[in-house]
Amino acid sequence: MNFIETRGNDGEYPLQVSFSQAILAPIASYGGIYVPEKLPELGDSFLQKHVNSSYKTLAKAVLDAFEIDIEAEVIDEALALYDNFDDPQNPVPLVKVKDDLYVSELYHGPTRAFKDMALQPFGVVLSSLAQKRNENYLIMAATSGDTGPAALETFKNRANVQVACLYPDGGTSDIQRLQMVTEDAPNLKVIGIHGDFDDAQTALKRLLGSASFKARLKEKNIHLSAANSVNFGRIIFQLIYHIYSYLELVRIGDIEYGDKVYLDVPSGNFGNALGGYYAMKMGLPVEKILIASNKNNVLTHLIQEGKYDLRHMSVVSTSSPAMDILKSSNVERVLYDLYGAERTKELMFQLDNDNHYELTEAELNLLQAVFSADFCEDEEGKQYIKEAFAQGYLMDPHTATCFKAYDTCRDKALKTIAYSTAEWTKFSPTIANALTGEQGTSDEQALKAIAREAGIEIPAIISDLFAKEVVQKSIIDKENIEQEILDFL
Ligand SMILES: *Cc1c(COP(=O)(O)O)cnc(C)c1O
Repeated sequence: MNFIETRGNDGEYPLQVSFSQAILAPIASYGGIYVPEKLPELGDSFLQKHVNSSYKTLAKAVLDAFEIDIEAEVIDEALALYDNFDDPQNPVPLVKVKDDLYVSELYHGPTRAFKDMALQPFGVVLSSLAQKRNENYLIMAATSGDTGPAALETFKNRANVQVACLYPDGGTSDIQRLQMVTEDAPNLKVIGIHGDFDDAQTALKRLLGSASFKARLKEKNIHLSAANSVNFGRIIFQLIYHIYSYLELVRIGDIEYGDKVYLDVPSGNFGNALGGYYAMKMGLPVEKILIASNKNNVLTHLIQEGKYDLRHMSVVSTSSPAMDILKSSNVERVLYDLYGAERTKELMFQLDNDNHYELTEAELNLLQAVFSADFCEDEEGKQYIKEAFAQGYLMDPHTATCFKAYDTCRDKALKTIAYSTAEWTKFSPTIANALTGEQGTSDEQALKAIAREAGIEIPAIISDLFAKEVVQKSIIDKENIEQEILDFL
């Protein structure tokens, strides 16, 4: 299968690229990104055949349907990393929380957040491509807290790849920061910047598009790529768990095959939600996708009113920092799918230049046929955490936003799969505050308080972080990022 560009072709870039090309150089004409030329149709027989398949078997079949140019052994090696999740037989457990609400837990990988679902296999695929082509890559990542640890973890000591990871200093949890700054490998560089996540992401986009930066890298014989969710190499692995979770509901007999469900997704850069959208387009019986946001609720406005308007907004810090995002990069792929390349280019240029765009009524109708959206304030989120805990379910503040969307966005009494994107260990002060009322605790104190309340243990992978040495010490102004990276290389 070939990949084409969301903003059309400018005559400089190729008209189509292979999957591996789209992974290695994810930015396309006019600053666009790559999308599959045509999504494969899975069909009822495919889906029904896989009701009892393991996660890896299903994953392999879905990847096969995309006919990507990656060798079978590499795919096998990539998918084998799911064997390192808590339960190798079931890396994505589905937990029934109430009546018709199920939580699909995407955080059972090495960094305790859902980014591992895609980045673990992605690291193998990318490193093997680089080795095969005898090329060296600099992978840039901008992180609001979870992409960074997951990218560092997956590329650590892998051949032909170096990583430079930008995070907003003070914009992540203690645990997330420790996961990054204690990563010790010669091919990893972690840089804290004075600014918020959008600053980090904008700096990343600028470097990815900078001819002079690329020229400097070329002198060192290094190519540039990105591990952010604009990379289709991540999106492809995010389709699979939506299909798996649906089939799990069929397998346990709580729905019949063909019954529609809601998918309820805590959203930031929209990679997770896009995976659900593509799964739906490929034939998964989905009624609607519920887009849950925090107070940075651009997506709520877009889906409710058809307006993407950043003119009077700036990022606010919330207790779900992985969703503190205003420029949600994967929305572009939905625009492309619904309205075509020419219109996508127009809308994205308006957003870049004027900080806003507005859909027509007809366009908004198309969007609302698929998505429904709401946002959840921090205080409400804590209430949801407390209520769920009282019913026996411990969840993090990102997951809590889905509980609000579950309450407000459904107009049919259908079963709902909400996605839990982080383990409680990553955002413990907020959870401890929700459960005990205690304020201002450190991550370490909060972890202990929750473990005590819930009668569970803190996973060693988390508690060990506090004793590890901080080896990544750079915290700089965003103007100096380029030089810092060149010095590292
Ligand atoms: C990345 C992340 C999200 C947002 O996912 P997107 O695919 O960017 O929409 C939500 N919750 C957590 C914990 C995350 O790490």
